[in-house]
Amino acid sequence: MPVPYQLQCRECRALWGNQPVSFCQNCFAPLEVTYDLAQIRGQFNKDEIARRGTTLWRYKELLPLPEVCDASLPVGFTPLVKAAGLGDYFRSKSLYLKNDAVCFPSLSFKDRVVAVALTQARNFGFEIVSCSSTGNLANAVAAQAARLGLKACVFIPADLEPAKIVNTQVYGAKIIRIAGNYDQVNRLCSQIADKHRWGFVNVNLRPYYAEGSKTVGYEIAEQLGWRLPDNVVVPMAGGSLITKIYKAFNELMELGLVERKNVKLFGAQATGCSPISAAVKAGRTEIDPQKPNTIARSLAIGNPADGYYAASTITGSGGWAEDSSDPEIVDAIMLLAETEGIFTETAGGVTVGAARKLYGQGRIRPEETTVLCITGNGLKTTDALAGRFEESEPIAPKLAFFEEYLERELVKEAK
Ligand SMILES: *Cc1c(COP(=O)(O)O)cnc(C)c1O
Ligand SMILES: [Zn+2]
Repeated sequence: MPVPYQLQCRECRALWGNQPVSFCQNCFAPLEVTYDLAQIRGQFNKDEIARRGTTLWRYKELLPLPEVCDASLPVGFTPLVKAAGLGDYFRSKSLYLKNDAVCFPSLSFKDRVVAVALTQARNFGFEIVSCSSTGNLANAVAAQAARLGLKACVFIPADLEPAKIVNTQVYGAKIIRIAGNYDQVNRLCSQIADKHRWGFVNVNLRPYYAEGSKTVGYEIAEQLGWRLPDNVVVPMAGGSLITKIYKAFNELMELGLVERKNVKLFGAQATGCSPISAAVKAGRTEIDPQKPNTIARSLAIGNPADGYYAASTITGSGGWAEDSSDPEIVDAIMLLAETEGIFTETAGGVTVGAARKLYGQGRIRPEETTVLCITGNGLKTTDALAGRFEESEPIAPKLAFFEEYLERELVKEAK
């Protein structure tokens, strides 16, 4: 039986089979994967999913996987945690965090997109896999390529956080640093992909890559007991994740796995790179590219590939978009850590900071069930907190010195 999916143009709806291309050769619009849901329906049900391993592969029928592929790496199925502490802060009793700060193996949601893209990279016979990355994608490509025995060579803007660079190099991947911003890196990668037979997960394999993001949506629904939330707040870089969470919810409704419901999608960006949220706030879906200037480097895409679709998804769902300034991002990272014991990277700070505004504006109501997507780990962006905490003088390993220290601290606190 042929695979039940293929590429389709998002605009002219032409079908293109399965191949490593991301644009329609008729009208140059982006391609996305479409499924024959009639063929998929009835092949699995909730009970069967419940018996499967706790990884994103449990939704394999809804992913564009080749007939033969290595689906053994335990990626995804991250915790959905009820956020009582942060919920108190927002006066909400029904707040949840989808915690991809602990996604396996490289500690960001990008592990999901790479897991799916690399099955197709192998299927199409690529020996070198690549990407243009703001950091997390490079980490995920490098880690999973090592596991699969593929060569990885990734392109990044030169100014990335040191932890994200080491987290790529440690797996033996080659890093090519480009003196330019992400949008320039990405343009270069498109040109390389036209010339060299390399599998760029987010360029020529982009339609397959993007499908991996849907698993965030499937997991949220399943972990809520096969119910959909009222609201989801999602950080946006290229704008793909937010559109795919929406697609996931629609597929589950279409397949009868959840009841029909209008879920509002809320997008979050950094104020220093907010082309999508600016468009939403202005009531437009066309994107005005920006020059990024923010500590949230993982979201610093000034000309987002899926910006138009992200803005349309947000507006169409009745949601909204907000942005967080650099100081607000740092405050929100600390708020999340202090209330929930979760250390997120700058992108998570953007999300929590935006959620704070959305609750404040009454756009998200406390009685509604709301999920915040925490997409990356704080250990990768510790430089964002540099200078935030004072380094205390060490004390001698003697009880007397400790007692003295305690006294001093008590005096300080009393002041
Ligand atoms: C890439 C990334 C995003 C956003 O992904 P898009 O699909 O490009 O919008 C969000 N959070 C983190 C941590 C990321 O690395
Ligand atoms: Zn087309």
